[in-house]
Formats: sequence, structure tokens, C-alpha cells
Amino acid sequence: MPSVVQPEVVNIWHNCLKIIKEHVNQQCFKTWFEPIRPVKLEDSVLTIQVPSQFFYEWLEEHYVNLLSKTIHQELGSNARLEYRIVIENKSTNNNSTPFTVNKPTHTNDAPGYLKKPNQPESAPKEGIKNPFVIPGLKKMQFDSQLNQNYTFETYVEGDCNQLARSAGFAVANNPGGTAFNPLVLYGGVGLGKTHLAQAIGNFAKENYPSVSVLYVSSEKFCNQFIDAVKYGSINDFINFYQLVDILIVDDVQFFADKDRTQDIFFHVFNHLHQSGKQIILTSDRPPKDMHGMEERLISRFKWGLTTDLQIPDYETRLAILEKKMHAEGIELPREVVEYISYVVTTNIRELEGALITILAQASLMKLEIDLPLTKKILKNFIANSQKSISIDLIQQKVCEASGVAYDQLVGKSRKREFVQARQIAMHFAKQYTESSLKSIGRAFGGRDHSTVIHACQTVSNLYDTDISFQQMVDNIEKQIKMSM
Ligand code: ADP
Ligand code: MG
Repeated sequence: MPSVVQPEVVNIWHNCLKIIKEHVNQQCFKTWFEPIRPVKLEDSVLTIQVPSQFFYEWLEEHYVNLLSKTIHQELGSNARLEYRIVIENKSTNNNSTPFTVNKPTHTNDAPGYLKKPNQPESAPKEGIKNPFVIPGLKKMQFDSQLNQNYTFETYVEGDCNQLARSAGFAVANNPGGTAFNPLVLYGGVGLGKTHLAQAIGNFAKENYPSVSVLYVSSEKFCNQFIDAVKYGSINDFINFYQLVDILIVDDVQFFADKDRTQDIFFHVFNHLHQSGKQIILTSDRPPKDMHGMEERLISRFKWGLTTDLQIPDYETRLAILEKKMHAEGIELPREVVEYISYVVTTNIRELEGALITILAQASLMKLEIDLPLTKKILKNFIANSQKSISIDLIQQKVCEASGVAYDQLVGKSRKREFVQARQIAMHFAKQYTESSLKSIGRAFGGRDHSTVIHACQTVSNLYDTDISFQQMVDNIEKQIKMSM
């Protein structure tokens, strides 16, 4: 193995990256291509080094065509790609020689041996050793604080969570040993962050019994720290956290503006990361938007993989409901389940809430659950959750009702009809969402909060004085409410 990479190989790979960059978005490029290192070129075979098995599988699964095309373009049609996978735990010893495996890249029609990275059935691979066993050292005993029901088996996969779930599964199989450290899961309320983070913990605990897992909410971490300060036991607090092998900290946005908690967490984070321990964080927003958080913490959060959970589509909502019903032994007419999945679009917690509401009310009223009853019950439920309607939906409804195109609605033009539609949409965004004035302004082509205030006032004035305007606004409101 050459110890120095030939300059021409570096050049070739540099050119390949240029081509790849044109075909994938920036986040993808950063996540999947920047960490690759060129190793050597021999007989038209370019060897590249990737940080983990999972990484290799992900590239092969998602980017095999792009990679082959790129290599052919750079090196001619005979060229091939081989992978070298770093298996050793990167954070324990950076200088050790990586154990390497050469994997030939396969073409699209020969994916036979490729294990999908997201198969829940696959047990941890033989040969992956629990990275945390230190002979002779007695492990500390403590309760992991995990909810047993939050597992990969009960977690439904969909487009909305695919990357997060696959990365989570890789981490669960090889805690501290993948490039995904920390693993940061972010997304809106009720989209499955806590469930997924705990599934990783539960899986690792079950498969590597000697691994100590700890789940803690940021709020609890913060309160424990305050107590430790109060009772003079900060050292115990730090020592305790430093003994954990997999630390899951939920809702880290709670640390915002809590400088001393951030300091102590920074300390714990560094210690764990340096010792090759796994850190999993969840947040309601990506690290770059974590205001009130120290820059040095944010930059560490970006070290591993940051990935989001999105709102599930109809099919995934249906699958989640069915799984939930199956687990609880509930049976409902198909059309009822379809209807619930269709109308409850906000998040999974609300979806489950709707199901429970229907079951509860039907049993109270001693009625058989059918579609008309479901519609009746959900009418109230949906009205109550109207605060969670999105700005997107409001914009869509206003565009439909006013005949103004979306680009015009959020565009720069001061044409009267565009301005009016824009103001009405801002007014509803203020009324029906919990978004701040600032984020409403942002959703309308980057306007500032005073523009939103002005829009709301204008709509309210016109509404009181202009009958036809009033009718138009009422009509749009009806459309919005119907889609809630
Ligand atoms: P978050 O932490 O993002 O607010 P949770 O993890 O608490 O969301 O999820 C809310 C509810 O939805 C939980 O009951 C969880 O089990 C369920 N849930 C979320 N995502 C899924 C999924 N993909 N499959 C099955 N259930 C899910
Ligand atoms: Mg949560």
C-alpha cells in the first residue's frame, strides 16, 4: 500500500468531485462525498477510502450510477472503482493503520450481494465487536430511562424519515464506530425524533448488553446540573455522564441561552466524543438555526451527521396507524383508517391522538365506529388543532382563491392584486399558525416583520369597510378551514 497518495490521483479525484458536485445538492455532497479520500490508481482501478461500511453501502445504493459515470468520464470506459472501508473506530486512534476491505463497485444490474442499509431484520454483523468492553473494568449500573416501546420494529419507514432511520440503524449497530457522531435528528413536533433516538438506544442495549445507554431530556440534564451546583456535586455529575457509552440528549434546543449548562455539556460532549462514545441529539431545528447556542457547540454538532424528519405522506400515515392498531389489537373499518390518515396531516402525535379520540368517544357513546361517526368526532378534533396549519397551505389556498400565482404572491411586484393577496395570506398566517412575524415575513419572499404587521392592519381595516373584500376574505377562510 503506498503511504503517500500520488498527486495525479488527488487531481483525478478532485476532477471527479467537480463533476459530482454538479449533480447533487450541497448537503448531499458534504455528507457523502467530502469525506471520501482517494487512495491509489492502478490499471484503471481507482481506489477510494470511505469512513464506514454503512457509508459504502449508502453510496452504492444511491450514487452508483453517478459514480460510474463520473469515473468513466474522467478515466475512460474501462475504469473501475474500488472502495476501502475504514473499520477501526476513528476517534480512538487516528494514527493506527485502518483495517481495509476492497469492494469492487457493482453495476446497476448486479446488486446481488448488497445489503440494504436500512433492513431492520439484519442482526448486527458478525465481527462487529462491542466497542466499549474494557476487560476488568466494572460497568456502572444505572437505568437507561428508555421507553421499551420505542423500537425500530415499531418505527414505520417512509420517505419522510429514510435517511434518519438508516443512519440511526447504522449507529445502533456500531455505536461510536460510524462517521455519524454525533447523530443529530431534527424536525417539527411529533415527527418521531424521540422515538427514533430511543430505538437506537434500545437496539444497542439489546444487542450489546454491556453497553451503557442513557436517555435524558435536555430539561432534565439542565435541572440535574442546577441541583449539582446547589449541592456542590458537580464532579459527580460530570463523572456520571462521562461513564455513559451512548448518550441520547433529547430536544437540545432547550439549552439555548443557558450558558453554564452549555459549558458543562460541551465538556461532557468532548470527553465522550474523544473516547469514541456515541452521542445522539435531537432538536426542533438544524444546528445552524440554534440561536442562543455557543458557536463551539454548534460546530461540534456538525461533526457527525445532521438529518431531518419530515411530515409523513398519506401512505406512511396509513402504515403508521395500521401498525399502531395492530400493536394495540384494535380493529377498525378500512375506510375509517383511510379517512383519519387523510385528514390528520400535521404530525404523527396528532394522528395517534385522533385515533385515541375516536376510540374513546365511540366507547363513551357506546356506538359502533363507522365513517360518519369518525367524521363527526374528527370535526372537533381538527378544529382544535387548527393552530398547526402551515403557511404553505395558506399560501396555496389564497393563490387558488385569488388566481394569483405563488411566485407573484411571494415576489417583489407591487401590483395591486398581488399586494392584496399577499396581505390576506400574511393575515391568515398570523391568525392560523404559531409562526413569528419574522418567519412569516421570511415565507413571503424575505420581507421583514413590520411588513407583516402592516398587512394584518390593512386587512383588518378593509374588512370592516369594504363588503366585497369582506366576502372574499370570508370565502378564503372557509377554504382554509375546510382543509384543516
Ligand atoms: P417528537 O420527539 O419528534 O416530537 P415522538 O418521537 O414523540 O416525536 O413521536 C410522536 C409519536 O408518534 C410517538 O408516539 C411515536 O411512537 C409516533 N411515531 C413517530 N414517528 C413514527 C414512525 N415513523 N412510525 C411509528 N410511529 C411513529
Ligand atoms: Mg420528542
